[in-house]
Amino acid sequence: MTSATPVNLMGLDRTALERFFAELGEPRFRATQVMKWIHQHGITDFSVMTNLSKGLRELLTERAEIRLPRVALDQASEDGTHKWLVRVDSGNCVETVLIPEPDRVTLCISSQVGCALDCTFCATAQQGFNRNLSSDEIVGQLWLAARQLPELRISNVVFMGMGEPLTNFDNVVQAINIMLDDFGYGLSKRRVTLSTSGVVPALDRFGDVCDVALAVSLHAPDDELRNRLVPINRKYPIATLLQACQRYLDKQPGNRQRVTWEYVMIDGVNDSDQHARALARLIRNIPSKVNLIPFNPFPGTRFARSSAERISGFRDILMAAGVVTITRRTRGDDIDAACGQLAGEVQDRSRRPVRMARLQVSA
Ligand code: SAH
Repeated sequence: MTSATPVNLMGLDRTALERFFAELGEPRFRATQVMKWIHQHGITDFSVMTNLSKGLRELLTERAEIRLPRVALDQASEDGTHKWLVRVDSGNCVETVLIPEPDRVTLCISSQVGCALDCTFCATAQQGFNRNLSSDEIVGQLWLAARQLPELRISNVVFMGMGEPLTNFDNVVQAINIMLDDFGYGLSKRRVTLSTSGVVPALDRFGDVCDVALAVSLHAPDDELRNRLVPINRKYPIATLLQACQRYLDKQPGNRQRVTWEYVMIDGVNDSDQHARALARLIRNIPSKVNLIPFNPFPGTRFARSSAERISGFRDILMAAGVVTITRRTRGDDIDAACGQLAGEVQDRSRRPVRMARLQVSA
């Protein structure tokens, strides 16, 4: 008799685990028992799961596994930020960043090995695209970070590491379900943020199944400039994107949600007073918050960071127009852990001309 490949329970949300146990003829509550062992107690060995019968533990050892990616490198920044290089297969690593702050501890996770989107100011884009991460590889980053530094309670998760989460839809949704589940990590939906460059059809689908916080990488107030910085804008221009964001908020009445607009401040490119005024006008009808991100340089980039004066001038214009604006503090740049600096180790399987084509198929 040949035995089937073991199922990795690490990446199964409650519904999927209930289905798994139903197929074994076991009651539904086995799903929550096992979720607690894995995600709350950090147990990966079935033999330790003492509230399961010995027979079931043996069966699980045959049919299932709890497999995690491996930490290949652990770096700590002087400011307390940690960056892990996480090996997901023999050729590829992604990066995960932990950012402790006085009032919260945020984990920035990756959703893909590389990225297919080609944003001109982002280090990950230069790596090309290799593959989607599976749900166990996504949630595994949270599992690993929580075990590596157990004294820091992770309160927030942001999908702002490598990759475009909305082009890895099912795996990202399943991982989010585990993060929000009371038997998983029990994170509040306002403390899990999906960041997207604006894959409009996928954003609409996402709003049908999830109601976590939404961040959108805008970076320019007009299509001409955004087409150059965020090429997916040619497919889903700003007006279309804004309507989709409004629809996302409308699906969660009473939730007091707003969109966080991410805006990377690039010297002489998108940082003038006119840009600030156009941005304020553009978003005035959507509940919004603007997050200004000082551009983080990486080898080979032709862009530079706006000066501190320019960033505060830009911010003042937005604030005067009534837009809540914060400037993201650059964290972990001594270990290349800041926004847009995550490169991991990617065996690029994409070639630039075919990348947009692939995107159109998956979007
Ligand atoms: N693909 C998703 C999530 C990953 S990027 C998205 O585009 O939203 C997380 C944030 O870092 C995005 O807002 C991205 O535009 C920004 N970013 C990328 N490169 C950067 C750089 N060099 N400096 C500062 N921020 C950058």
